[in-house]
Amino acid sequence: MKEKLPKIYLVLKILGIILFLAGLALLITSFCVDDSFSEMEKSVGFMFGGMVGLMIGIIMMSIGFTPNMQKLMIKTQKHIINENREDLKDIANTQADVSKGAVKTVAGAVKEGMTEEVVEEKMFCKYCGKEIDKDSKFCSYCGKEQ
Ligand SMILES: [Zn+2]
Repeated sequence: MKEKLPKIYLVLKILGIILFLAGLALLITSFCVDDSFSEMEKSVGFMFGGMVGLMIGIIMMSIGFTPNMQKLMIKTQKHIINENREDLKDIANTQADVSKGAVKTVAGAVKEGMTEEVVEEKMFCKYCGKEIDKDSKFCSYCGKEQ
């Protein structure tokens, strides 16, 4: 089910375009008006008004067109992924291989560590709890028989 885009985007789009065009028109007019307008009227009325209109229009449009831009970006990404499917597969496989190698190394190290512990063959004295060699008949700390 397609979810409807909030109306605010459409409003911002239309208002943004109108403000942008109005601002542009004002700016262009400021260069064309004759001397029946004073410098003050030219600079404040046309120039400043035009710039504000342009700026607000651009801001409104950039928000209004965000969903369209996002859609376009997703489409572009999809296209790029499709175009480079083979390379991406290669990268994924290489990464998997590297990870596999790393996991193997770590697993090997863990295994080795565990084996080493077994090879060390230590145990604890039943009486004083100190670590002593396995198979030793007497504790090397308290001398009690194991
Ligand atoms: Zn002991």
